[in-house]
Amino acid sequence: MRRHGRVPARAVYARACDESPPNEPLTARRRCRVSGPDPRYSAWSLLRARIAGDGYWRPLWSGRVLADAYDVVVVGAGGHGLATAYHLARDHGVRRVAVLEKRLVGYGNVGRNTTIVRSNYLLPENHYFYEDSLRRWQSLSRDLNYNVMYSPRGVVDLALSDDDWPALARRGNAMRLAGIDAELLDRAGLERFVPELAPRRARRFPVLGGLLQRRGGTVRHDAVAWGYARAASAFGVDIIEDCEVTGVATAAGIASGVETTRGFVRAGRIVFATAGHSGLIGTMLGTPLPIETHLLQAMVTEPIKPLLHTVLVHVFPGHGEAYVCQSDRGGIVMGGHLDGFPSYTREGRWDRLEEVVQGAVDLLPQIAGLRILRQWAGTNDMTMDGSPIIDRLRYDNVFINAGWCYGGFKAIPASGSACATLVATGTAPDLIRAYRLSRFATGHLLDERGGGPFPVRL
Ligand SMILES: Cc1cc2nc3c(=O)[nH]c(=O)nc-3n(C[C@H](O)[C@H](O)[C@H](O)COP(=O)(O)OP(=O)(O)OC[C@H]3O[C@@H](n4cnc5c(N)ncnc54)[C@H](O)[C@@H]3O)c2cc1C
Repeated sequence: MRRHGRVPARAVYARACDESPPNEPLTARRRCRVSGPDPRYSAWSLLRARIAGDGYWRPLWSGRVLADAYDVVVVGAGGHGLATAYHLARDHGVRRVAVLEKRLVGYGNVGRNTTIVRSNYLLPENHYFYEDSLRRWQSLSRDLNYNVMYSPRGVVDLALSDDDWPALARRGNAMRLAGIDAELLDRAGLERFVPELAPRRARRFPVLGGLLQRRGGTVRHDAVAWGYARAASAFGVDIIEDCEVTGVATAAGIASGVETTRGFVRAGRIVFATAGHSGLIGTMLGTPLPIETHLLQAMVTEPIKPLLHTVLVHVFPGHGEAYVCQSDRGGIVMGGHLDGFPSYTREGRWDRLEEVVQGAVDLLPQIAGLRILRQWAGTNDMTMDGSPIIDRLRYDNVFINAGWCYGGFKAIPASGSACATLVATGTAPDLIRAYRLSRFATGHLLDERGGGPFPVRL
């Protein structure tokens, strides 16, 4: 096995396009293109495509051949891996980046979630980070030149008892002090914003009001995966599907590359963004992580005419939970709590499905007669304080971007940018300093819910 020289920890990669020797192969030069994806989507490109016929559109990302060596290898083509690769290439000019994915782009949780984005967090470490992400969602379609369908339809956390009020008010006040929009709605205000909630019959749990974040909403999940993959590929990132990373090779105290199902690949730096499989990466590197893998289900009904124009989050007594929104196709999308035990099966318990549907129907009795069209599940990397980890892992040149629990979709734009900065410069930006792994040793936990060391949602 060949050794790869150590990359200085604080080295900043130079934009090397102009320094390429004239005899450098064209493919390598194309990697340096910083003009962004093309062809750009526009009314003109649609017209040109119409005239040119079927051959006009190119694949969204290129199926490149795996090279022997890269400056950075990112493991996992989910939202976080693709966004990290995109920002490495675009913001830091890293020339040779590969994303290695054991299945397909978008096969993981990035294509399985309920698409909710928001920044309504209590703790400053979290609300500043998620606010950065929410602002990036607003301009992401333009940045990627790909319509990710950000829909700021509002997210309302509902109050079902007098005890819920102080908690929601405290969270809303913390957000407003940080300059983040939050509105505490009483029952009348809530019914004005969501007329569908006006009681037509007695509810098991009366809805007393809610905390509204108007800029929260939804984003089309698979468009996020495809948009980042397309944009990263246009900046020269190699996206290699069907390539599982099975081990990490080390030499002289640093990682020298990864073993894959397609052979050994040398790497200057390695980033693991493997979501539900992050615990296995800890095992692979001999560093157990405070992460458990749990299943989370979601389900969607048959499509109906527009009924619900916002996102409702409903945590009801007895620890049940349901969040409900209507997809652009008309289906009512529902999710709830974790299945409750570690698993990699992606199947899901029937009784949990039933509980989520009960919660949703309790909230919106109008949907009671609908048929469930599809149900699915994803494997979530649950940390023991509910907050993520973006840090080095065991070696100076190995990084982990994980612990997203079941709220990591909304974090993708901020996480990709911050993680790329950490990997390229060796220094964590302020935004993610609190997300270091050592907090589990020092006790500086970010327990948003104050729920103790259990897998909980953020
Ligand atoms: C049902 C459900 C609903 C959710 N709803 C929301 C929501 O509404 N809002 C929100 O913010 N979040 C939500 N989430 C959470 C969110 O989807 C995840 O936190 C986030 O997508 C995880 O990051 P990712 O996109 O990078 O993961 P993934 O898309 O899972 O990417 C990880 C990739 O790594 C690959 N991989 C793993 N091991 C290896 C290996 N050894 N070699 C190569 N590749 C490997 C996997 O195949 C996978 O493609 C939900 C999750 C689920 C399951």
